[in-house]
Amino acid sequence: MSDRGPPQRDAYELILEAIDVGTYKPGDRLVESELAERFGVSRTPIREALQRLETQSLLARDGRSLIVASLDHNQLAELYVVRTELEGLAARLAAKHATPEEVRVLREMTESDWGLLNDPTALARANKRFHRQVHLGSHNRYLVQQLDLVHRTMALLATTSLAVEGRGESALNEHRAIVEAIERGDSDAADAALRAHISKAYETRLKHDADGFAAAE
Ligand SMILES: [Zn+2]
Repeated sequence: MSDRGPPQRDAYELILEAIDVGTYKPGDRLVESELAERFGVSRTPIREALQRLETQSLLARDGRSLIVASLDHNQLAELYVVRTELEGLAARLAAKHATPEEVRVLREMTESDWGLLNDPTALARANKRFHRQVHLGSHNRYLVQQLDLVHRTMALLATTSLAVEGRGESALNEHRAIVEAIERGDSDAADAALRAHISKAYETRLKHDADGFAAAE
């Protein structure tokens, strides 16, 4: 409700980000009036944002309340199947269509992200940026939209698999292999490298879920 300061962000984005950073976790109730107060946004845009998030299955009904959805074991498996196919396709297309500038940005990311190894939260954010850059490199807007939805749903997976001992280093090496294949214009290798990367992330998550550790990449 401040009349100064940075331009107001969309209520939908604000709620999504709060779920993404774990302010609201799966099972938490979202109350319109509390959200309006927290974000300094009026209730109408909050209500619209909540409806949109419910349509996207990011929120669920619990009686009369709306709660942050959680993914069961089967939903997780289904999500990873879709993610693997779409990310593989994005890498394949990026190997064909990414501009030299886009490839350079990707390469720079794979180098600078090593500096974040001791900060899993920053590394998780950098990881999202990296994948988003690959998606954009595909130059296919419908694919980018579908991947956005997949990545928004990934926000329901609580903390990051990149926090698991040793996973950060492996993930960055895998990113490097993906970029090298894209740089060579080798579609098959880019597809395979990205699939292998997602498969490793999923494996890490399954292992640590079994240990009662919530992990996601
Ligand atoms: Zn990654």
